[in-house]
Amino acid sequence: MAVSMPLVTISDLDALVQPEDFSLLRSGARLRDKYGRAITDLRVSVTDRCNYKCVYCRTGNEGALFTELPIEDYLRMVRIFVSLGVEKIRLTGGEPLLRAGLVEMVQELAQMRTAFRNDGTPTEAGEPLDIALTTNGHLLEGLAEPLKLAGLNRVTVSMDAVDAETFAAITRVPRSFDKVLAGVRKAREVGLGPVKVNCVLLRGFNDGQIEQFADFSRRENVIVRFIEFMPLEEDRTWKPETVVPMEEIVTRLDAYRPLVELRPNSASETAKRFTFDDGIGEIGIIAPVSRPFCGHCSRVRLTSDGKIRTCLFSQSDHDLMGQMARGGTDADLSAYIRRVVMRKEARHHIGEPGFEKPSRSMVHIGG
Ligand code: SAM
Repeated sequence: MAVSMPLVTISDLDALVQPEDFSLLRSGARLRDKYGRAITDLRVSVTDRCNYKCVYCRTGNEGALFTELPIEDYLRMVRIFVSLGVEKIRLTGGEPLLRAGLVEMVQELAQMRTAFRNDGTPTEAGEPLDIALTTNGHLLEGLAEPLKLAGLNRVTVSMDAVDAETFAAITRVPRSFDKVLAGVRKAREVGLGPVKVNCVLLRGFNDGQIEQFADFSRRENVIVRFIEFMPLEEDRTWKPETVVPMEEIVTRLDAYRPLVELRPNSASETAKRFTFDDGIGEIGIIAPVSRPFCGHCSRVRLTSDGKIRTCLFSQSDHDLMGQMARGGTDADLSAYIRRVVMRKEARHHIGEPGFEKPSRSMVHIGG
């Protein structure tokens, strides 16, 4: 099967707005970086704690390293980001379902409205936000319904194996698979869908499960998304050979059953989407290593301790909480966010000579 996969290169960015364009800093304009990328997507880590110790993510010896803020502080920060043009909020961690007050936080988020029309003009009559959650699913069975009632739209569950034994070996938590499966089913039942299941493939560890994941997608009616392993782990064990690249996943799936490529849901879609020849099941492949999509990046992240990170691979973070603690007004914080976002990195440099690992690992950023 021929799959066309255009590479996004740095020249895509060069063609956009020049750094000297200070109109991007204008208050009232939609939040953009110096390359002209509109920032519409905010990921908020609501805790640095996690109840899993996935082997590719954590050392197994470290606990939380960073504090968490009162929920009202996250809400104030989100409100300001929304006033600047953010439309999608993804709650993450650590493990967000460990955070007390999460349901109430979702209730508050569900009251917020987007601040800009599609054409970029400000509006008082905006739409509800798109509110999503990324979770390991361990506590999801009990929380799916309250979260749905509070206004959560969608859930993504991280699952790196579809058999109980490999799953427990990855998470280092016994009997974890059944709990997560029950969480996935409950999320689907209460309408937190389409439920996405994210799997990070590691060569020699769970890459034998690609076809079983395809079965899982078809059987459980969930979107399975394979994500390339990135150098974001606590243990610093990443090697290019461990990454299972997109081409290989596509070839394996196509041999299992012919794939049919689906159109992207939006311009900033990070996944290549496929179904099978009978239309049952959906697979996404997210390939930040072999097919970077930085040119379309619309994201920034807020860590559990209130720092802004403009890229997963940033070498530093920006202390929004510090600005708040020093008594910054909403206008001060908006101006600070605009300045920080202007400096968003053009792209990551995974696999290039001189690549430096970021200053925080994934679990302490919020994936
Ligand atoms: N605890 C939640 C969960 O399990 O989804 C949210 C935090 S977790 C850090 C977010 C996502 O990051 C998970 O899907 C995990 O698989 C992914 N992740 C962690 N380390 C990664 C890495 N080095 N490369 C790619 N994805 C990674």
